[in-house]
Amino acid sequence: MTTPDAVWKAPVTAAEQSDRLKAQSMAALPVRDIRAESMESYWRDWEALRTDPNGELLNVFPSVLLDEIGWLQRGEAYLRLPDGSRWVLASGRIPREDTAHDNAFLRRLHALLLEHQALRRPHQSARTTVLLEADTLDIRRVFCTDCRAWCDLQVDAEEADRTLGPWPGGDEWRRPVRPQGA
Ligand SMILES: [Zn+2]
Repeated sequence: MTTPDAVWKAPVTAAEQSDRLKAQSMAALPVRDIRAESMESYWRDWEALRTDPNGELLNVFPSVLLDEIGWLQRGEAYLRLPDGSRWVLASGRIPREDTAHDNAFLRRLHALLLEHQALRRPHQSARTTVLLEADTLDIRRVFCTDCRAWCDLQVDAEEADRTLGPWPGGDEWRRPVRPQGA
């Protein structure tokens, strides 16, 4: 069993470049647009709509929001920013299990998502919170709806590697290294 860090530390091969193009074509299939002024404002509005004035989560979300979030989650919509860029959720549009063969680029991406999630816990599954630009799938600039911030998945992976220690192997989850005496 290969650990996630072994996957993202491996050099990029020509085969992986070709797999990346295949993943981009999966990500960029035409679907409906959801216009957003900015990534930050869209998710700020979403947060405001799903909480009551006391900051408690609503039991029932406004239906327009459920529609949009559902479309994003199922890969049936992009968030389109004013610069024309289109953003997709990793889980909606480019899940590993949807590829006909094991796609090396998606294997790397999903290893990086695991590192992001490990570094920034508590965190929901990063597959369901990280938006990538559909046309480039640039891992150096993604938006995480859980962190509510732009992130560089490579930098996060390197930091996780420095601060959390090695993956235990297999499917085991990596535990943070506790400081002495904590
Ligand atoms: Zn995050």
